[in-house]
Amino acid sequence: MNRAFNFAAGPAALPDEVLQIAQRELMVYGDLGHSIMEMSHRSSTFIEVAEHSEATLRKLLGINDDFHVLFMHGGATMQFALIPLNLATPNTSAEYAITGYWSKRACKEAQRIRTAHAVTETDTYIAPESSWDRVDNSSYLYFTSNETLRGVQFHEFPSPEHTPLVCDMTSDFLTRPVDVSNFGLIYAGAQKNAGIAGVTIVIVRKELCRPLESNELHFLNYQTHAQYDSMYNTPSTFAWYVSGLYFDWIVKEGGVEVMQQRAAQKSEVLYRVIDGSNFYQSPVAKEHRSVQNVTFYLPDERQHHHFLKEASNANLKNLEGHREVGGIRASLYNAVTQEGVDTLCDFMQDFENRHG
Ligand code: PMP
Repeated sequence: MNRAFNFAAGPAALPDEVLQIAQRELMVYGDLGHSIMEMSHRSSTFIEVAEHSEATLRKLLGINDDFHVLFMHGGATMQFALIPLNLATPNTSAEYAITGYWSKRACKEAQRIRTAHAVTETDTYIAPESSWDRVDNSSYLYFTSNETLRGVQFHEFPSPEHTPLVCDMTSDFLTRPVDVSNFGLIYAGAQKNAGIAGVTIVIVRKELCRPLESNELHFLNYQTHAQYDSMYNTPSTFAWYVSGLYFDWIVKEGGVEVMQQRAAQKSEVLYRVIDGSNFYQSPVAKEHRSVQNVTFYLPDERQHHHFLKEASNANLKNLEGHREVGGIRASLYNAVTQEGVDTLCDFMQDFENRHG
């Protein structure tokens, strides 16, 4: 079997060990006589899986009892709607730090139902927080810790002083330690660093969850999902199970601190190749470059096609940039190995020697 070096931006590479366990348990889970996918989410077996995954996640990030941990449907995109619906009141404003494509989309969605104010708007760098156009009495300050599309990352989070922080951590969740107690809400689609598509993890401060009102749509209120332990309706059981395996794997590897060290090493060698050449160009300000999504351009648009084709032949897969911005994007998520990145760097140097 040939497993390629996979730099997909998401759904993304999974650790071999996670896939191997899932494979081993695919037909028959334990002594049940069938798989985990083929049974009630309310069975004691699945509840054990669910409780174990939540407990492991709480340990990994040090999430205390002030927070609900939810395993929801609807992707990160559903949170673009649920956050303003649940956390912004009709009479106040919500603040959005737009640092790329995803935070812009989140802000636009919020503006459909609430007053959402962009405090900053950039694309390839992050303006200093002191320059942001803040408003009084905002319900929350929303930001995207890692903008997946261009690879723009907050290496320091905004100050939690004035208003609850709400963060889309979809593309750097579980890649570094985070002091969760500084946040009102953190959410992440699992399909990059924490599992497969189909489950979105929401960590929300209990006191921010509004009680259910009789005339509102129950499914759209966080309180409903908290009250029913994320089982108000049938959850994505298999995706939830895979996230549990992924969390176990991170624990086994040494925790989020180890994921952080690895990401630093992987991205450093790759940026060194980019910065050491006149051929590859990074579009992002150095101090805000992502250690998760490394994007770059070749001098001539036509060369991207050759690069991707040759890379694929060299077993380096899924390197094409997002359709909005083109170019090349190498995503270096938790499951991407140093060996994969070193192979990519060698390939890039060789490609440059031949085409530069
Ligand atoms: N936020 C970020 C930072 C993302 O990278 C993505 C997906 N690439 C999304 C939100 C949207 O996720 P989904 O497709 O799961 O709704």
